[in-house]
Amino acid sequence: MTRKINFNAGPAGLPLSVLEEARDEFTDYRGTGMSIVEHSHRGKAYEAAHNEALSLFGELLGLPSTHAVLALQGGASLQFAMLPLNFLPAGRSADYIVTGHWAKTAFNEAGKVGTVRKAADTAEADKRYVRLPRPDDISIDPKAAYVHMTSNNTIFGTQWTSLPDAKGLPLVSDMSSDILSRPIDAAQHSMIYAGAQKNLGPSGLTVVAVRKDWLKESRTDIPDILRYQKHLDANSLYHTPPSFGVYLFGLNLKWIKANGGAKGMETRNKTKADLLYGALDRLTGFYAAPVEKASRSWMNVVFRTPKPELDDLFCAEAEKAGMTGLKGHRSAGGVRASLYNAVSPENVKTLVSFMEDFAQRKG
Ligand SMILES: *Cc1c(COP(=O)(O)O)cnc(C)c1O
Repeated sequence: MTRKINFNAGPAGLPLSVLEEARDEFTDYRGTGMSIVEHSHRGKAYEAAHNEALSLFGELLGLPSTHAVLALQGGASLQFAMLPLNFLPAGRSADYIVTGHWAKTAFNEAGKVGTVRKAADTAEADKRYVRLPRPDDISIDPKAAYVHMTSNNTIFGTQWTSLPDAKGLPLVSDMSSDILSRPIDAAQHSMIYAGAQKNLGPSGLTVVAVRKDWLKESRTDIPDILRYQKHLDANSLYHTPPSFGVYLFGLNLKWIKANGGAKGMETRNKTKADLLYGALDRLTGFYAAPVEKASRSWMNVVFRTPKPELDDLFCAEAEKAGMTGLKGHRSAGGVRASLYNAVSPENVKTLVSFMEDFAQRKG
């Protein structure tokens, strides 16, 4: 078997040992004579996997007991709508810090539900999303229902390293592309959400961590399926959960825990980011990395070669050398290497060697 080195932005690679464990027990889940995908979500076998995964997630995230974990469906995109449906009542407004494609989509979607306001927009300042807002760029409406941010901008390759000052308002963060990549101060957030397919598991699962007392303020006049409180009351078994996704999420969380938890991931991810940005900074005669240094993402590294045709050739040759998923997002172009948890430092060294060789041959 030849496994590719997977630099996809999402769905992303998972550790081989996690896939092997799932394979080994796929047809007979822990002696039950059935696959986990065939078990009832109301049965003991699935419920144990479900509860274990949700509680391990809270543990690894450092979530205080004031917060609850929910396992939902619909991706981060459904959260763009569900958040304002629950927490943006008529007559109020919500603040959005717009730092990239997904942050803007979250803003636009919420604007269909209620009144929204941009607390910052880094593309307005610089025309491109190449840096995060400086404190002076952010103006918070003191009456806002909440402040929404995107902790890592997957397409443009920027990542927050410290939280913006939300002036004491509920802070909500879309962490789809950097959740559990390093420790965070979970208690500073009223809500965190993430589609699982980038750093946590397979697609189809979305995880939410939300402050329970904030939920008391959420709207009750919306369909139950869209209410966080209903999902919490039912322990995320309000309806059939994405059971295979939750199970695989649980296996992956055990792998994260065995590798040092969020702290261990931080060391691993810093090593990888240093390797790749180090190469980009050495090879500036050939590669250009547009993101301001202080805003660089450890998760999604964007760069380009001198010509779009060479970007295409770079990706094609990398593919032949066993590295996949390097093409930049269709809206941004260039090259993007996504270095989620499952990517190893060795994998990044392979990419760097390839980059050095490519620059020498084509430069
Ligand atoms: C991928 C991504 C999304 C969209 O996620 P879906 O699960 O496909 O809806 C939203 N936000 C961020 C930051 C992302 O990286």
